[in-house]
Order: sequence, then C-alpha cells, then structure tokens
Amino acid sequence: MIKVLTVGMIQEHAYFFIDATTKHGFLIDPGDEPLKILAQIEKEGFVIKKILLTHGHYDHIGAAEAIREKLGCPIIIHEEGRQYLEDPSWNLSGNHGRGITLHADEYVQHGDQIALESNPAMTLKVIHAPGHTSDGVAYYCEEEQVAFVGDIIFNGAIGRSDKPGGNMNRLLSSIRAQIFTLPDETLLLPGHGDSTTVKKEKMTNPFFNLYE
Ligand SMILES: [Zn+2]
Repeated sequence: MIKVLTVGMIQEHAYFFIDATTKHGFLIDPGDEPLKILAQIEKEGFVIKKILLTHGHYDHIGAAEAIREKLGCPIIIHEEGRQYLEDPSWNLSGNHGRGITLHADEYVQHGDQIALESNPAMTLKVIHAPGHTSDGVAYYCEEEQVAFVGDIIFNGAIGRSDKPGGNMNRLLSSIRAQIFTLPDETLLLPGHGDSTTVKKEKMTNPFFNLYE
C-alpha cells in the first residue's frame, strides 16, 4: 500500500510504503509538517519501521528529526548524505529560514537492500543515481515494480543540478544507467508533481531522445 502526503511550501511528497496486513512499513522523505505526518500515521495505525531519505535537501528532510523523536525509528540516507544532513549550506535550509542539521542512524550504499521484517516482498534496493545531488538514491521495490525517485527524475523533467554536489551530465548518465534500465512498467514516484513510469519517461522526457 502506498500513500502520499504533500507537505510544505514547495509541495513535497512524503510517501508511506506500508504492508497492508500488518500496517508496518517505511516513511520516505518526510520533508516538512511533522505534526500533519504524525497525525496521518496515528489515524491510519501505521507502524513506521524506518525513515528513508532519497537525498539530503531541506524540503525532503525537514520533518525527519521530529518524527524520529516521536516514533523512535531510524533515519537512513546514502553515505554521501552525511555532508548534506550536517551542513545547512548543502541541504539548502540556510536559504530558507531555520538551518537544519541532523544525523542519520544508518548510511547505505548502492546495492544495499532494506528489508521490512513483516513482508520480505517489500524489500527496497538502494540505487545510487547522483547528479541532482551527490547522495541521490532511488529506493526500488522489484516485487511491487515501484521506485521512489526523489528529485532525480520527474514526470516530463529532471532534477536541477546547479546546487552543491549537483552535475547535469552526471544526472543524465545516472538516469540512463540506473533508472531507464529498470523494467518499463516500473512506477516512478517523484518528490514533486505527478507520478510516471520508466517507459513514459524513456519515450517522452524532453531531456532524452531516441536519437542521442
Ligand atoms: Zn532536491
């Protein structure tokens, strides 16, 4: 079961990836409005086992600390995310009022598997796809054919690459090598805007075309 809650000034999607039977699951990118997210968790009876961050930008991490404090679940990010979490000039929170710093409980790398004890079919694979940020990952569930892609790729667009750790060419090659090689039917759930699929972006994303 996947639920989305859109939070904050710039409308970031926090996703719940939840086992429908036990209601155990993961919370991906709680970017802002911790009280709203916690109210949803309580209302639905979700048991959040882990908070997963696709990358360390302020609009994806802003509610993580408050939710960890309340629920006691660990925060996970790619190993290159340490710099973003610990430095407001990297996570961009310095430009947006309060400066955010936080520490993850676990730093993962490409190829790691994040398992949900109560339902192994919901295991998420860490796919490192840098370029929007150097720590950017997609969390991919092969069984459910879904990937939480953060700001790597959007419906008809790609992430910006002009902030610390960003690089346009690196982002384009990450998408080609790591996202477009997933099965065509894979549902892509981005941090902002509408969902899409691998097939749709391969065919219509203006940053790529068949003649490249
Ligand atoms: Zn971002």
